[in-house]
Amino acid sequence: MRVPFVDLKAQYESIKKEITEAIGTVLQNTAYILGEQVELFEQEFASYCGVDFGVGVNSGTTALHLTLLASNVGPGDEVITVPNTFIATAEAISLTGAKPVFVDVEPDTYNIDVTKVEAAITRNTKAIIPVHLYGQPADMDPLLDIAHSNNLVVIEDSCQAHGAEYKGKKAGALGDAGCFSFYPSKNLGALGEGGFVATNNEKMADTVRVLRDHGQKRKSCHDIKGINGRLEGIQGAVLRAKLRKLEEWNNHRREKAFYYNRLLDKLPVTTPSEAEYAKHVYHLYVIRAQNRAELSDWLSENSVATGIHYPIPIHLQKAYADLGHKAGDFPVVEEHVKEIVSLPMFPHISEDQVEYVVDTIRKFLS
Ligand SMILES: *Cc1c(COP(=O)(O)O)cnc(C)c1O
Repeated sequence: MRVPFVDLKAQYESIKKEITEAIGTVLQNTAYILGEQVELFEQEFASYCGVDFGVGVNSGTTALHLTLLASNVGPGDEVITVPNTFIATAEAISLTGAKPVFVDVEPDTYNIDVTKVEAAITRNTKAIIPVHLYGQPADMDPLLDIAHSNNLVVIEDSCQAHGAEYKGKKAGALGDAGCFSFYPSKNLGALGEGGFVATNNEKMADTVRVLRDHGQKRKSCHDIKGINGRLEGIQGAVLRAKLRKLEEWNNHRREKAFYYNRLLDKLPVTTPSEAEYAKHVYHLYVIRAQNRAELSDWLSENSVATGIHYPIPIHLQKAYADLGHKAGDFPVVEEHVKEIVSLPMFPHISEDQVEYVVDTIRKFLS
């Protein structure tokens, strides 16, 4: 048996008709950039998240970057986040001219350790970006308390957490703004690049809307310096069709995650832990194992694709050498990095495939 890491073809096959129709709509109305389908998607995804405003942009990175700019983050400012995230979280901060300041994570959830945040706050801190890593929301209530008492903006990196919940509220609706990516393999994925800013703050939404379109509110009147950060019409139409499936697909992910948990229960590996406040949507199903390198090789030899998210924490990346960090600065993240391995996870993975992955792991361990 062969088990891919994700199977976008199976997803496509399951909604081929809807995708073809969605693309056809845009081919007919020729609104290739922004336009009706993007506007409808903005309303529908904002409403799904439970926020008043939504702005479609051309990537998750752009969503984070423009939200930071709209929060007046710039040179001389500091933004707190975690070192175990996709590089884009830190890049978005750097793109504004601000400096990323890292905080270590909780051992069980892999999310920001809120008890360590206050020590990282300085006079220059402007914002905090918690990352809802692998699809599980960070512990937002105590984080929001700290942010409020220190006058800090909270921008949720929800790029892996479409539809995830914290105490019954959707990820992306908890802080001042939530940023999403529609990279094809995300829980809600476009047929190319895409991103989104969700917020209840009308001024924030308006500013992001202007920034994504070269700083113009009216054609050729450039009030502020913006960028080309626009979402394409075809992506808007396709995302509308896929949004209708998101809850179902997330539930499939959860069922398969629980099945993995059950089958892996007796083996000497650490399975993901779901916090009592969370509805985890398993963008990634990440376990920890002692001989991770050998295990990954073994799985690969047996046609099971795996990943490591992420193999080098950002504070040890060459691109961020200017921050002056060294090994040992964030011990929890650095400990995890040696052991984490992401197993195949996608809504259409079959029970047979999950069983094959676990059998292959069992053979390795015995
Ligand atoms: C995917 C991702 C991003 C960036 O999204 P792009 O659409 O690829 O720019 C940012 N943060 C996290 C945690 C992500 O997983």
